Amino acid sequence: MTLITDSDVLDAADMPVSRNGAHRATLSAERKVLEPTVFELSAPGRSGYSLPDCDVPEQPLDALIPANLQRAEATHLPELSELQVVRHFTRLSQLNYSIDGGFYPLGSCTMKYNPKLHEKVAADPRWAGLHPHQPDATIQGVLAMLYRLQEYLCEVGGMDSFTLQPAAGAHGEHTGLMIIRAYHESRGEHRSEVLVPDTAHGTNPASAAAAGYKVVQVKSNADGTVDVEDLRRLVGPQTAALMLTNPNTCGLFEKDIVEIAGIVHGVGGRLYYDGANLNAILGTTRPGDMGFDVVHFNLHKTMTTPHGGGGPGTGPVGVKAHLAPFLPVPLIEREVAADGTETFRLTSDRPQSIGRVRSFFGNTGLLLRAYTYVRAMGPDGLAQASRDAVLNANYLRALLRDAFEVPYPGNCMHEFVISGKRQKKQGAKTLDMVKRLLDYGYHPPTIYFPLVVEECMMIEPTETEDRATLDAFAEALLTIAQEVEQGNDDVHTAPHSTPVSRIDEALAARKPDLRWRAG
Ligand SMILES: *Cc1c(COP(=O)(O)O)cnc(C)c1O
Repeated sequence: MTLITDSDVLDAADMPVSRNGAHRATLSAERKVLEPTVFELSAPGRSGYSLPDCDVPEQPLDALIPANLQRAEATHLPELSELQVVRHFTRLSQLNYSIDGGFYPLGSCTMKYNPKLHEKVAADPRWAGLHPHQPDATIQGVLAMLYRLQEYLCEVGGMDSFTLQPAAGAHGEHTGLMIIRAYHESRGEHRSEVLVPDTAHGTNPASAAAAGYKVVQVKSNADGTVDVEDLRRLVGPQTAALMLTNPNTCGLFEKDIVEIAGIVHGVGGRLYYDGANLNAILGTTRPGDMGFDVVHFNLHKTMTTPHGGGGPGTGPVGVKAHLAPFLPVPLIEREVAADGTETFRLTSDRPQSIGRVRSFFGNTGLLLRAYTYVRAMGPDGLAQASRDAVLNANYLRALLRDAFEVPYPGNCMHEFVISGKRQKKQGAKTLDMVKRLLDYGYHPPTIYFPLVVEECMMIEPTETEDRATLDAFAEALLTIAQEVEQGNDDVHTAPHSTPVSRIDEALAARKPDLRWRAG
């Protein structure tokens, strides 16, 4: 077991992660460092606090905790000093790949830079110190902020009302489908199926199934968009909804969207918009104008909350007016007095509501970051962000299109897919190539998704990257394509520069070695 030393940490800072204008496809030096667990660092008697002697009468434990609730044996908690704990977690955090450390082109996840201003605003104790149980009269500021965010989201999405409660995209999908179910049932209709294209994110069929629907897959055509004829065959009186993201997960705009909306509405179904790809269309078009009845937005993606590793998130859900009665409670209402004074309050007086889907008002700290993002960017800034995201994706795609197979010709939106089919014939899988990217200092793109593209790499550069970074990343991928062509074995055994090299992922999931053994 090697402990990380200060010089290792300095070495880490020198890794070629497109830092300081050093934009070259350089290999990281081979280095393997392992951080011990807190249990391995533990030594009996160490502690991170010192308390004065007790100056009140001591009570026997039995007087405080009933005997049947007391532990029979010691907890085996690790014993460490405060400095050890700080260093341990700081070192671990430095092993993580992060958007603040390097380029992170993880398609569909929109890993853009999150301005530090938002963190500063969110950390202000005037927000952060509030308690969710405070009376409405004492939290007028936060209610006003949430109300205005709802208005901005209505404007951005072309919708009539929003709930900010859902805590992630998938949670928004589930909430939206419950709203759609409540709508159909209010009309005495019991519809059983939700249509989902074969390019959909996995959460779409999962949310539909969790909401009690049968999931029916719609094929995509050779262009990578919804096969309208297949859709026509599948819709009927059993259709509750079609779930769609536009642009779709191939980074392509569903240009038949108006016809698609007509087909689904024609049989009484509702159109659900998975807004994870909102970063492509801000200020250009709106799901409400395309015919969607319900949307969720992944604000943690588009509106800059640091995200990844399972959270945190916010997936506000917007609806057209005819679905508003079914929104979750509580809703934020505004009253304007004759002198213009605004008062905000929470109301649960909505008899057709699907009920509560989240405690309090949702993930308020993230909603505040989204509000700050909208205010900092302004309408023109939002539109510019999407235009730049689309431009960056098309630029990077052009740099890569000769070396890799491109399944869909023509321009893309904010992300694109390429295929490693050619390289697979030369003996390297897409998985091998993206592991090799780690040696060049880059986070891999999304791979093997969408499922309709063989050996898929899905790349989303985002608008926050500069041209030099895109050039450097392309150079790294092109170098890897050359290594594959030359039969360089390093590709198959990569990564070589990370603390842990290639692992057996199935074994790691099934038989995790957590390295600490009790007793
Ligand atoms: C990220 C994503 C989701 C799920 O959102 P979460 O916030 O991770 O639950 C759904 N659809 C698409 C297309 C996505 O990219």
